[in-house]
Amino acid sequence: MPNYTETNAASSWTVAWQGIPWGLVTGLLLGLVAPEPGWGQQAPRPVDRPVCVLPEAPFQGKKIRPAPEKSARPKTATITVNYRSGGSIYGYSCSAWPQDAKDAFGRAVSTWEGLIDAGHPIAMDACWSTALPSGTLGSAGPVTLHHSSSFTGAPKSGTWYPVALANSMEGADLNGSSNAEIQAVFNANKSDWYFGADPGAVSAGEHDFETVVLHEIGHGLGFTGSANVDDGAGDDECRGTADEGCLGIGSPEGPAAYDHFVEEDAAVSLLNYTDPSADLGTVLTGGTTSGGGGGLFFNGSAVVAANGGVAALYAPSTWTAGSSFSHWDQTAFPDELMKPQLPRGQALRDPQLALSLLQDLGWNQTIPVEWVAFDAVTAQGDVMLTWQTASETANAGFRIEHRPRGDGAFAVLDFVDGAGTTTEPQSYRYRVKGLPPGAYDFRLKQIDTDGTAWYSPTVEATVALEAPYRLSPVYPNPMRTAARLKLRVREAQPVYAAAYNALGRRVQTLHAGPVAAHAAVEMTLRAEQLPSGVYFVRVEGKTFSAARRVTLVR
Ligand SMILES: [Zn+2]
Repeated sequence: MPNYTETNAASSWTVAWQGIPWGLVTGLLLGLVAPEPGWGQQAPRPVDRPVCVLPEAPFQGKKIRPAPEKSARPKTATITVNYRSGGSIYGYSCSAWPQDAKDAFGRAVSTWEGLIDAGHPIAMDACWSTALPSGTLGSAGPVTLHHSSSFTGAPKSGTWYPVALANSMEGADLNGSSNAEIQAVFNANKSDWYFGADPGAVSAGEHDFETVVLHEIGHGLGFTGSANVDDGAGDDECRGTADEGCLGIGSPEGPAAYDHFVEEDAAVSLLNYTDPSADLGTVLTGGTTSGGGGGLFFNGSAVVAANGGVAALYAPSTWTAGSSFSHWDQTAFPDELMKPQLPRGQALRDPQLALSLLQDLGWNQTIPVEWVAFDAVTAQGDVMLTWQTASETANAGFRIEHRPRGDGAFAVLDFVDGAGTTTEPQSYRYRVKGLPPGAYDFRLKQIDTDGTAWYSPTVEATVALEAPYRLSPVYPNPMRTAARLKLRVREAQPVYAAAYNALGRRVQTLHAGPVAAHAAVEMTLRAEQLPSGVYFVRVEGKTFSAARRVTLVR
């Protein structure tokens, strides 16, 4: 049973968008108007309730995360804000915006404009409302969701994408140029907003408005999934059975892009669960169905690279619509912008790990190091890696990684310092010595000073098989009293070396016994009892045999 029905009287089609935890308050009309889909394409889904209900939280100590340095990062997105002075969003009526709130809003917008790379302008509807419940700082979400079948470039098929991301992939306005992609409401009743530019000046009694705007834009860009858990109390979140969990949007259903990356503790994707089911309800509230430790985790490659592993999501034991699932776990990530509560006295103006999450969803971000080239060539049994950058921004350096070609995880070889921030081209070289013969993949993990990491393309190089032995010429040659030659073998083995005359008769043994791998063995041919003439030194091991000619003169 759906939890709400569409309000379009022309159709009695019930919208089965059970999933998204975008319920603001139980009892609020959460209708999604769903136009009839065309053949082969899912129609967009208007989203009439917010992703996030960001609650106030008391002072827990000051935390300051300044916005990322803007001067070094070019603007790669355009976000325009319509500051509504009338009408309503999510049923909350809007009133005129104070200038200082708009100034803080503009700074948050400009931070995101420097961080994401949007292939299409983004419009945002912003409502300053006295009607939000007290204790709520703000709410937001995408205006519509678009199915992967309805635009080009979606990384996952059968999946719903927030309109700003869908537009960016399509490079066109899927929702009409006069419509916003993100909508947000902010609490106009609070007397304890901090609107200032200086993050260090937010007091223990104030909520930083710029942080709240950054947070809500993060949801609007796609930091949100489609999970829900049913309370069994009539307003069916799934099918009306208490504690059942469900995922998915639309009819027929499909997951949101975010859902693809969420796993329970034992690395079981949520998409593998029966939907709806009690098991899904268990894992969505932090429990386990597989004997693991419980908990929800985001497992996207960019998040894993930046975080050093999967990242914990907020999964309290009681499902909390507007908080659960679509935020970082606040205990694991007390400094992250996208945690589910914002305490007073905190200015977290850098989206940090949320940027990696958005990248996993499909956003192209501004890459802080502009690669020009990365090459690997073999030189005398070593591999020479060379790379160049056109510019660097807050680049701590490069971790050099390798593995046997196409085989398993990369291993770390070394770290090479970067140039920090520069607009000058930089060249780097690194010699990889002592690799056993074979084919290898190499890549660089470029790490920002804030820990954000990016991988270079992978390049290949082959270290040639070393010869099974090396045997020097005899020296001197011709010889009078004695001559020497030197042997090296790749593998340890017994070696027999002897001198033979022109008739093939052995005249002297030079070596008989084991030779260690890579050790040099020097052998001496003594001339005292030998007549003048031509001799051959024959060296035989398990893996090779070789001969050298020498002339003895008196
Ligand atoms: Zn939120």
